[in-house]
Amino acid sequence: MPKLVYDFAEGGKDMKDLLGGKGANLSEMTVLGLPVPPGFVITTEACIAYLSTGELPDGLAEEMAEHLAALEQAMGKRLGDADDPLLVSVRSGAAFSMPGMMETVLNVGLNDRSVEGLARQSGDDRFAWDSYRRLLQMFGKTVLGIDGETVDAAFEQAKRDRGAATDLDLDADDLRGVVRALKAVVQDSCGRPFPQDPREQLDLATRAVFSSWNTERARLYRRQERIPSDLGTAVSVCSMVFGNLGDTSGTGVAFTRDPGSGQQGIYGDYLQNAQGEDVVAGIRNTLPLEQLEELDEAAYQELLATMAILERHYRDLCDIEFTLERGKLWMLQTRVGKRTAGAAFRIATQLVDEGLITLDEALLRVTGAQLAQLMFPHFDDVAGAERLTTGMGASPGAAVGAVVFDSPTAVARAARGEAVVLVRRETNPDDLAGMIAAQGILTSRGGKTSHAAVVARGMGKTCVCGAEELDVDVHARTVTTADGTVVGEGDVVSIDGTTGAVFLGEVAVTPSPVVRWFEGERSAEGDELVQAVQRLVEHADATRALGVRTNADTPEDAQRARRFGAQGIGLCRTEHMFLGERRQLVEDLVLADDDAREAALAALLPLQREDFEGILRAMDGLPVTVRLLDPPLHEFLPDLVELEVEVAVADATDVPVEDRRRTLLDAVRRLHEQNPMIGLRGVRLGLVIEGLFTMQVRALAEAAAALKAEGLDPRPEVMVPLVSSVQELEIVREQAEQVVAEVAQQTGQDVPTLIGTMIEVPRAALTSGAVAGSADFFSYGTNDLTQMGFGFSRDDVETSFFSRYLDLGVFGVSPFESIDRDGVGRLVQMSVQEGRAARPGLKTGVCGEHGGDPDSIHFFAEAGIDYVSCSPFRVPVARLEAGRAALRAGVSDTR
Ligand code: PEP
Ligand code: MG
Repeated sequence: MPKLVYDFAEGGKDMKDLLGGKGANLSEMTVLGLPVPPGFVITTEACIAYLSTGELPDGLAEEMAEHLAALEQAMGKRLGDADDPLLVSVRSGAAFSMPGMMETVLNVGLNDRSVEGLARQSGDDRFAWDSYRRLLQMFGKTVLGIDGETVDAAFEQAKRDRGAATDLDLDADDLRGVVRALKAVVQDSCGRPFPQDPREQLDLATRAVFSSWNTERARLYRRQERIPSDLGTAVSVCSMVFGNLGDTSGTGVAFTRDPGSGQQGIYGDYLQNAQGEDVVAGIRNTLPLEQLEELDEAAYQELLATMAILERHYRDLCDIEFTLERGKLWMLQTRVGKRTAGAAFRIATQLVDEGLITLDEALLRVTGAQLAQLMFPHFDDVAGAERLTTGMGASPGAAVGAVVFDSPTAVARAARGEAVVLVRRETNPDDLAGMIAAQGILTSRGGKTSHAAVVARGMGKTCVCGAEELDVDVHARTVTTADGTVVGEGDVVSIDGTTGAVFLGEVAVTPSPVVRWFEGERSAEGDELVQAVQRLVEHADATRALGVRTNADTPEDAQRARRFGAQGIGLCRTEHMFLGERRQLVEDLVLADDDAREAALAALLPLQREDFEGILRAMDGLPVTVRLLDPPLHEFLPDLVELEVEVAVADATDVPVEDRRRTLLDAVRRLHEQNPMIGLRGVRLGLVIEGLFTMQVRALAEAAAALKAEGLDPRPEVMVPLVSSVQELEIVREQAEQVVAEVAQQTGQDVPTLIGTMIEVPRAALTSGAVAGSADFFSYGTNDLTQMGFGFSRDDVETSFFSRYLDLGVFGVSPFESIDRDGVGRLVQMSVQEGRAARPGLKTGVCGEHGGDPDSIHFFAEAGIDYVSCSPFRVPVARLEAGRAALRAGVSDTR
């Protein structure tokens, strides 16, 4: 069996996979000589073994005993000793941070005897009994699985019995009573007394932390954050230090820079005379960290110095948790801190300017998903809006929606397509589903490090927290403002996650400065964020090998994409050119009459030419890949049932019906398919409806010739869809080449035109060597390739069974969203290799939805694809990710 337990002094920050983020960083700080309470870490491997068998792995008990003995020796105390007990915290910590999702148990080692020892040693009776009370509450809920409300209700009742308004009003005797009440709850709920043996407490707490990897909320969070489900959590066992030993003690959370704006400084919250999770839980309102300077100047200075060491060492924004125990500073956690998207860009470039990191490293510190967030709109003019209050801007953005007060309501209303804002006093992990469903989150309590703030930032969701003037009554389903305005469920509010402002009603939103800069509507000058984006996107451009084109079907989209940096069009779908008034011509096309067909094609030609001229003009000098018509024809024809009813009613009532409608009905019947997506579409249609594809090629060639005659530089490419065998492509290619040559001759303009194919049917991928013989380029239609690779209908399955598959973990994420590397991706890899072997220099692109998905872009870059093509809005994201893909090594993941 591998080593399952590591002393803090044996680990380091690069061992996150094994020790979890928390354990790895506690180890790193220990090695750096910072004040970390001694302890050890039980590995994620032990967790994985436990989760698969339900038993602690062989050897773990012994290893824990050894490390515990060493810890006891270092501390000069024994776990749970009756006279001078060592107490430990048992904390979860996975490789990726999952704030508040898993369990923690503090004060392990207290029992009926050691509580007296702790009281004597600390000289503080109240403190000892309060600590025991906390252990019973946490242990009861987390380890023994007693319903949280039952445990808390017992505590609240005990408080009421003693006439105490807050926890601090309880004296030691009161707390003895509370402990008795909580022990009775344990006995009643579990049929056994609270375990008095300290080692048994430790073992049970360890098992509970392991198991908390698989709670509902942890699974949900992982799915949302795309964290693999098989990593497991490590368990840190750390000697307890106490922030609740009176006014010279306390606990806090801090960032080395503002995680909202990126500005350097001291940002954090401090809570005097408090322990552990009190700050994050947002239960009591905290002090800004600066006020610690007045309370304890020496500790404050030591904290600042420690934070500076950490930022220099990690070369990044760090967040920390610390405790002061009677004026002595202890570091309980650090990690590279989560930050907002804007702060990520600012901090990355600030660190470059400070000489701490290179531009390459800076590029690896930001993500396409963050850039996408910065392209969301913001509130602009709020002058006329009715401001209800201003809280803390905890996660930027602008959210507008109907007020809801609980998670299930948020989920239900969002499922009906309604925009909602989740309003709570504070959130806890059980609110996660509602937070995901809501546009934004508003809380009346808790600071920038409260659960709501941390989770919302992680999700990129707008959040205002600590809006203390609001009285949130979730039972009455009202929020009341300081001046008595009452906002009820369903009333619309607008919240600004940057300024913290909360408005009644809907406030208009305007585009982000980043988008305006891309659009050329403003310069980067004077805006640090826009400048940071510019620098990093331009660096990505200079770094990447992967090209970025766009999927655009109109000149407007093409122009926008060009402003966003697209290097051409990778997919121009032509189907919209057959809709509207042109449907009539499509009907003529299928009415089997040769003359009518010729006439319809002749009528379509100039219309198509005009469409292509507009697009080629917008993309002058850049390649434009035009895909010949792909969807099944019935999409352009009247509905079969409606037409049948029309004719049947006419027949039954003897009302004359146009012959054309009858002929059309025959045609629609003839073309009717059970599975149109794998029926007569794409190249198959082109081969069946004679003249259709050649008309399209002619329109494109003539448009290009006209522009060339104007002195422009059109670069058309013809793309044949849905090819499954090379013979199909050979036929279309021969016809297309002939048309291009004819147009060149007729116009005197020779426009080089590539002719290539989509690879979107598995057979085409499998026979890529042969297909490449007739293709100047391959463009992977990964939408269809996924559909046909998995054999499931892209139109149906996402709504029918994907949610079940995601729940079951069959997928981590929909394969229509992010490429299935092992299957569909494998087809792409093989096809690139075989295609290039047959035709060296074969150009390859991806034009399915995956072309704009960050994870997929990395995969395509690895596969040696030449370019990805995505919707205009995702072009900047793709540029950035393509640059990051080129740098791959040493990614700093700040999830
Ligand atoms: C594809 O299949 O990936 C593709 C781009 O074509 P469409 O989505 O139009 O079928
Ligand atoms: Mg397709």
